[in-house]
Amino acid sequence: MPSILIIEDEPDMAAGLKDNFEFEGYDVIIAHDGENGLAMALSHTPDFILLDIMLPKKSGLDVCRELRMRKSKIPIIMLTAKGQEIDKVLGLELGADDYITKPFSVRELLARVKAVLRRVPDSDETTSESVTMGRLTLNFQYYEATEGEEPVEMTHREFELLKYFYEHSGKTISRDELLNQVWGYESYPTSRTVDNHILNLRKKLEVNPAHPRHLLTVHGVGYKYIN
Ligand code: CA
Repeated sequence: MPSILIIEDEPDMAAGLKDNFEFEGYDVIIAHDGENGLAMALSHTPDFILLDIMLPKKSGLDVCRELRMRKSKIPIIMLTAKGQEIDKVLGLELGADDYITKPFSVRELLARVKAVLRRVPDSDETTSESVTMGRLTLNFQYYEATEGEEPVEMTHREFELLKYFYEHSGKTISRDELLNQVWGYESYPTSRTVDNHILNLRKKLEVNPAHPRHLLTVHGVGYKYIN
């Protein structure tokens, strides 16, 4: 039974979430402030954390940052209020796995939680088998790309980008995260570099690059790949 830590200071919200997740078969523990939440995350190592941003004693952003600094890989979904656009971006850059904006439906939240839990085990693995992304069949180990029987020309960077998107399917990824993870800190490309690579990848991947179905723009934040 997966265990979940809910860090939320509004008692009604915390109690409502607890009921819903228990009904779905999760073990639920609750913390009502950031300090306590961080301590419980470290001592209980839950399978999953729902983390409010506005919290007494320590903000959700700080809790997220400290957990990642301590190399905790527990998946985190941030709970944000309407209008906290900057917080959303920060939350993802800090290493949160997803965010959901209040008010949200419990059904949507449960779907997000299940999606994040599903993709956790393969986050560090590179499959040696071929995967399908849009029109392309890709083998990341051998750097091979084909469309049907035809080989497709791809740069090393394009492979690395697609691999990163594939391993983080469904997750919104900021341009900064792509720059850090795919280009690396030592080089200094601009976010326009990222956008240009995405445009080129869409031409290879999408049936209609002008109306992408897989490599999506998340306005004001970055990109998201969905299979
Ligand atoms: Ca709050």
